[in-house]
Amino acid sequence: MIYPKSIQIGGHVYQIILENIPSIDSESNVGEHHYGKSTLRVATRNIDSTQRSEQAIMETICHEMCHAVNYIFCHSELTEKQVASFSQGVYQVLSQLQLTADVKCKLVPIV
Ligand SMILES: [Zn+2]
Repeated sequence: MIYPKSIQIGGHVYQIILENIPSIDSESNVGEHHYGKSTLRVATRNIDSTQRSEQAIMETICHEMCHAVNYIFCHSELTEKQVASFSQGVYQVLSQLQLTADVKCKLVPIV
């Protein structure tokens, strides 16, 4: 799967950084949204060092995108639990559309 390398959210261009590690921080999180750095970091390994599934990686990208939307548009009023639920819904809708990223990293439908 080709993952998007960047995405624009609320006028901010976020770099999507995939890291070949099991967690982004010491709390075993697999993703991180950082507004100041304009980055969405996502771990691509499981804790046992096996490769995370494409679905798990894309769901994490969606989750971190929702954190960015929450920060920019909602003044971070959504809780982690609300962001998690909302991002699952967004991921379900996007995956249903069978979108993938082309070489320019724009989401396009699979034909
Ligand atoms: Zn989160």
